[in-house]
Amino acid sequence: MNYILKNHDYSDDIVVTIMMFYPNEKYIQTETPDGFTVLSALDGGKAVARVYDSGEEKAGFSLDIAANDEHSVRFALRTAVFKCLMQVKPIKAPWGTLTGVRPAKLVWTMWNEGLTDTEVHDRLLNSYLVTPEKTELAIKVAKSEKRIVENGRGKIGLYIGIPFCPTRCLYCSFTSYPLDKYAKKVDIYLDALEKEIKFTAGLIKDKELESIYIGGGTPTSLNEAQLTRLLTMVRDNFKFPAEYTVEAGRPDTINLEKLRILKQFDVGRISINPQTLNDETLIAIGRRHTVDDFYKAFELARQAGHTHINTDIILGLPGENESHVTKTMDGLERLSPESITVHTLAVKRASRLKETLDSYELTTFDLMEKMLDITAKRTAKMGMQPYYMYRQKNMLGNFENVGYCKPSHECIYNVQIMEEQQSIIALGAGGSTKTVEKTPQGDKIERIFNVKSVDDYITRIDEMIQRKKQGLENVLK
Ligand code: SF4
Repeated sequence: MNYILKNHDYSDDIVVTIMMFYPNEKYIQTETPDGFTVLSALDGGKAVARVYDSGEEKAGFSLDIAANDEHSVRFALRTAVFKCLMQVKPIKAPWGTLTGVRPAKLVWTMWNEGLTDTEVHDRLLNSYLVTPEKTELAIKVAKSEKRIVENGRGKIGLYIGIPFCPTRCLYCSFTSYPLDKYAKKVDIYLDALEKEIKFTAGLIKDKELESIYIGGGTPTSLNEAQLTRLLTMVRDNFKFPAEYTVEAGRPDTINLEKLRILKQFDVGRISINPQTLNDETLIAIGRRHTVDDFYKAFELARQAGHTHINTDIILGLPGENESHVTKTMDGLERLSPESITVHTLAVKRASRLKETLDSYELTTFDLMEKMLDITAKRTAKMGMQPYYMYRQKNMLGNFENVGYCKPSHECIYNVQIMEEQQSIIALGAGGSTKTVEKTPQGDKIERIFNVKSVDDYITRIDEMIQRKKQGLENVLK
């Protein structure tokens, strides 16, 4: 799959738009049409797109660029390419020309420009070509986030990554190392993390910490002593936040003692993730636990006193259809978690799924739409509302991930990380700190990355601390 850029270099916008029509390809920038090629160009005040196949022009589209700012130019280029490709390969595109990760953030941007709800609605529908259902969803989520975002202004969030899991799931692209190989490194990892925690605690001592989120990986992969050590480090170094979450994602890492330890350290929110309640799928995706293990873990969590439990599920797992999703939702309804996060499967570059893609029949758009409809209806029946949402590259059907929750059970951290209105400092291997600075020109967002590899993190911890020092000192003044 080739593409040509003429008089601009917005490669990402063009590639992400092409990906909606032709996912999981290699996208190569060329100078002249060769094989199947998408050309995008700026020509005077117009954005122009053309599609060629073996040198022959198959379709073309051009439109006027509304204003001379970067946003308008990129928007026009994406729209031209989208409309041109629609002529060659008509697809269903629930989010229209929107390629961004955060549709609700776009609603916020429009509100900040002074648009009313009706104007936001019309612009999403008519300019971005979003379907009426998704337009409604984006506005609903943005409204639900409003209170949390406004309440969190001036505060900061903290993320701590524990990059170990019992096994690696088929679709995983996170920083995660299988424990059978890495068990001996866990304590040394915690030594390095402790250094980073102590340094960061000094840096943010005058700031109000709104949320702490310990994720990974699977933090409950740590044994009881290691988990206690981690939570003690957090307690001794940071002020207690409004929200404290620990991912207990994999049921095969949970026991009553660990759940009691979490409770003892006042962890207020945990996440136990079945992904599906069908045993054959769990085997297919490489999770070393059964449906029954999930039920037991959930019941133990209630027994230990946890009253805010999230459960993650994924739609579009290999071999699953509406009946599998109905079964999963039946099981979750019986347990009545406080929130459910519904993901649609994304084929991520660093995953085993991507490497072995030819062995799977991927879920069709229509099936995914039906499965999403089931989860939307069933969560509503359980008294939940959508409260946060994000999209990823290469999601099947170009849909979205949605967090649903019962009233007052939103996850502050999830909302803040999506809406990018506050700085979130990330510690541990693979941590990606995001700083948000308010400037007269608008929000200035910068990132500071930790290395992904556990070994590199351990040996280069002083360098990671130095990166934080340089990147954060001015922002946190
Ligand atoms: S539990 Fe999560 S982090 Fe661990 S391997 Fe599976 S997807 Fe990756």
